[in-house]
Amino acid sequence: MLLELVADISTLAAGRSERVYLVGGVVRDLLLGYPNLDIDLVVEGDAVGLARGLAGTGKAKLLARHHFGTATLKHGEFTVDMATARKETYARPGALPEVAPGTIRDDLARRDFSINAMAVALSPDDHGELIDLHGGRADLEQRLIRVLHPGSFRDDATRILRGVRYEQRLGFEFEVQTAGLLRRDIPMLDTISGDRIRNELELILDEKEPEYAIRRLDDLGVLPRLGLTTGVSDDIHEMFREARNPSRTGKLPTLYFCLLMYPTTVDELEVFITRFNMPSGPSRAMRDTLHLKNSLHLLQRPSLKPSQVYGLLQEYVAPAIEANAIASESTAARGNLELFLTELRHVKSSLNGEDLQKLGIPPGPEMGRILRALHRARLDGEVVNRIDEERLACSLLAGNDNAEPQPQRE
Ligand code: ATP
Repeated sequence: MLLELVADISTLAAGRSERVYLVGGVVRDLLLGYPNLDIDLVVEGDAVGLARGLAGTGKAKLLARHHFGTATLKHGEFTVDMATARKETYARPGALPEVAPGTIRDDLARRDFSINAMAVALSPDDHGELIDLHGGRADLEQRLIRVLHPGSFRDDATRILRGVRYEQRLGFEFEVQTAGLLRRDIPMLDTISGDRIRNELELILDEKEPEYAIRRLDDLGVLPRLGLTTGVSDDIHEMFREARNPSRTGKLPTLYFCLLMYPTTVDELEVFITRFNMPSGPSRAMRDTLHLKNSLHLLQRPSLKPSQVYGLLQEYVAPAIEANAIASESTAARGNLELFLTELRHVKSSLNGEDLQKLGIPPGPEMGRILRALHRARLDGEVVNRIDEERLACSLLAGNDNAEPQPQRE
């Protein structure tokens, strides 16, 4: 199916006197024998025009057109990114490059590592030919990550994060000179915008087992440079594995971010959120994580009722509670956090506002008080069915409320 699409693209391009190449990660993965559903094509010509032409034949759907002459097509489960071949120059370190149309040779020369800088020609006259101008195939065989020139990390220090991601994913090593350049250029991370660094951190946290890359980045001194000065916990392998446990409902990578920031102070967290322009969801989760961590003594008190545990935790988002359940050193606190996650947060009372109205309780603050008392009684096992609840509601209305007050969140 994909082969048909590629054949169609290549025929269409030949009719427009343009050449098409398969490039980047998909070539690397093909040579390694790994699956990859993200197909990157480079066109010597006009990629957007070619993508439109293909969409016009109904053989693929044009999803988007972007800056710099790129377009995205969807074909079944495959996503095909098409880009016009380009030449890049960096006006200053860390800036986005200046871009001009170029040849496949230019396009490969702007790439991060030799293993990502190979192409397969797809035009009818050279179909299937591997274009390997930077020794990518030999580096794949020797399992090496190598930059294409000594100024590579200085031009774009996000490549430091990218390199570690590939090194750890593939089980490769940095080639000796590349390793020296990487260490030398770690300070160049300061030239990169927060959004670009965050994007690379998210790509790392999207890996199957990101703890390896995180640990490595810490050992290299990259994380301290990014403001994570407290160091990565020795238990990161265990904690990240636990975060992936299917019973956890906190979304990844948000839960990973919460675990990474667990040892930091509130002030350090605020600096991190601002520097990397963190979106509101993960920011709230990380703030909740530290707030809860600093209130955990309340959950360590002996003989807390379930309704009190619920009252202490109900305002926190799930990843914050899960991060504390995973990372806290207090067995008592962990027990109560897990009790909330596995049981208490799912407990509902049978009666709702409408039911109470039928019992003659008018809507208003009184009804709210009774509904909360019913929920507390359910949590504490004082009522177990609807009839119990109706009885309790009526006695509460008659003014016999002897329910415990809620413990307050500090
Ligand atoms: P993955 O398997 O992680 O998706 P990929 O190689 O497809 O790997 P992308 O991030 O999609 O990774 O990038 C596509 C290609 O673009 C890379 O293979 C690389 O050649 C090039 N590239 C991406 N980012 C950079 C960068 N910062 N500097 C140079 N080249 C880059």
